[in-house]
Amino acid sequence: MSGIDYRRFPIVLAAPSGTGKTTLARRLVATTAGYRFSVSATTRPARPGERDGVDYHFRDRAAFESMAKRDELVEWAQVHDQLYGTPRTELEIAARRGEHVVLDIDVQGARQVRASVPEAVLIFVLPPTVQELLARISGRGTEDRGAVARRLRTALQELDAAREFDYVVVNDGLDDCLDRIRSIVVAEAAHPRRIVGFEELVGAMRSEIDRALRQDYANAGS
Ligand code: ADP
Ligand code: 5GP
Repeated sequence: MSGIDYRRFPIVLAAPSGTGKTTLARRLVATTAGYRFSVSATTRPARPGERDGVDYHFRDRAAFESMAKRDELVEWAQVHDQLYGTPRTELEIAARRGEHVVLDIDVQGARQVRASVPEAVLIFVLPPTVQELLARISGRGTEDRGAVARRLRTALQELDAAREFDYVVVNDGLDDCLDRIRSIVVAEAAHPRRIVGFEELVGAMRSEIDRALRQDYANAGS
């Protein structure tokens, strides 16, 4: 919006596992200025190629639990036997820098963010089809059949939560989906409550119109 500044807000992406939300979140922050990825803490072991502090903050259970106990996590949840949580510092750094922070988290975490971070925007990502979801889960090659089945069972519960979100997008083509997410952010940014100094801006315009009416249009109209 030209000439108007707005408060940046956290963007939560949740989806059935395998839909592509990590891919979307990573691409979004890589291709859009002013966005940063929220690096979660987890007890899950790193997959090949994953780096500590970049993909996740990999922690043992005791370290994770002490973070939770010290209230250092905005939200946390158990997903497929492992603990995952968003460090509060991820949101604080983004707020300090005036950036959008993108949270790639599960539905349980999204619900907690809804409750404790009212300015966050929650976007639910759907796969284009179930067949494509299965192809994406299998294509990743990191899960055996049992793990895939577990992810599908979780997907049933996750789909039930879609209606609680602010927006729903379909991850058909990556670029199209990213465009829709960016459009949501642009629309949300235009909300009066997010505009910096909105009351002052409107107040100043009112005063100017009042002055113009008194000085230049005193006897015009009724
Ligand atoms: P999630 O984080 O939702 O579990 P990932 O981002 O790990 O999912 O993506 C799962 C797989 O689907 C990955 O192999 C990824 O490259 C692929 N993928 C993601 N988005 C698309 C898309 N729009 N079209 C085709 N493949 C995709
Ligand atoms: P994965 O182990 O495949 O990286 O992630 C498994 C699930 O945990 C995904 O749905 C992912 O979005 C979710 N997840 C990752 N980080 C967090 C987090 O910080 N909090 C919550 N609640 N879920 C997370």
